[in-house]
Amino acid sequence: MFVSEKAPAKINLTLDALCKRTDGYHELESIMTTIDLADRIDLFLRNDQKITLESSSGLVPHDEKNLAYRAALLLREKTGIRKGVHIRIYKHIPVAAGLAGGSSDAAATLRGCNRLWRLGLTDKELIELGAYIGSDVPFCVHAGTALAKGRGEILSTLPSPPLCWVVLAKPPISVPTADIFQRLKVDQIQDHPDTKKMVQAIHEGDYGTIAKNMANILEPITFELYPEVQKIKERIKKFGADGVLMSGSGPTVFALVKTDARAKRLVNSLRGFCRQVFAVRILGA
Ligand code: ATP
Repeated sequence: MFVSEKAPAKINLTLDALCKRTDGYHELESIMTTIDLADRIDLFLRNDQKITLESSSGLVPHDEKNLAYRAALLLREKTGIRKGVHIRIYKHIPVAAGLAGGSSDAAATLRGCNRLWRLGLTDKELIELGAYIGSDVPFCVHAGTALAKGRGEILSTLPSPPLCWVVLAKPPISVPTADIFQRLKVDQIQDHPDTKKMVQAIHEGDYGTIAKNMANILEPITFELYPEVQKIKERIKKFGADGVLMSGSGPTVFALVKTDARAKRLVNSLRGFCRQVFAVRILGA
């Protein structure tokens, strides 16, 4: 028996930190939406109780350090189920890119093992479990579009943003998310995103306001450490897009454009400057 799950990447339309909590984490506020760039996770029921994993990518761990492996293990520990699984990951989302590839693989494994092992857990229960694995996992279980608060586990569903193209450019560097958050000084943030305005714009399907108000408080930190990320943002702005922003802690920079023609033009202008360039649809629902 086997089940297959899609694990889409996310982009942050806004990313804000409100304060540093006593547990050392930041109190976050982020609007996230899924895009049509996805890994595929195939899960095969094993005859024994082992969890095994293979992946099409040499860039991710193939053992218990893989977030998909950790998701299956967590599910087994929390439910006491005595079943095994073989996890096969077809990797398409760039690794350590700010697109939550690992988190989405973990979320897809939670959803998939819930079906494969006939556990009958609700989405709410899977979201709660996801929080044990990482801050982006609850959103990835939820998918679609949502405002995430707390450490990322308090989710309010939002409607899908208007249909548009997302052009992504990933420079050939990996940015460790924890490093960037460690350098964040909340009291020194100059421009907080206007999250309320963004929520309203999404409810109204106001593409122009969405594109204009995208903001991420981690940008200045990543830009200082990795100036090439800022250069990509500047380059995209020069070529023209309705909105440009770094996703998560980077280094991927994404641009929103409305028409196929503009997406194609932007992709062509970025090739040669950046090796990993994609144009995908916003999924959002
Ligand atoms: P986020 O946006 O949630 O911070 P990210 O896109 O920056 O995530 P990931 O692609 O999730 O980063 O990878 C972060 C780290 O997690 C990498 O160093 C990678 O080795 C490890 N990792 C573990 N499991 C996976 C997986 N299934 N896919 C990708 N990376 C994984």
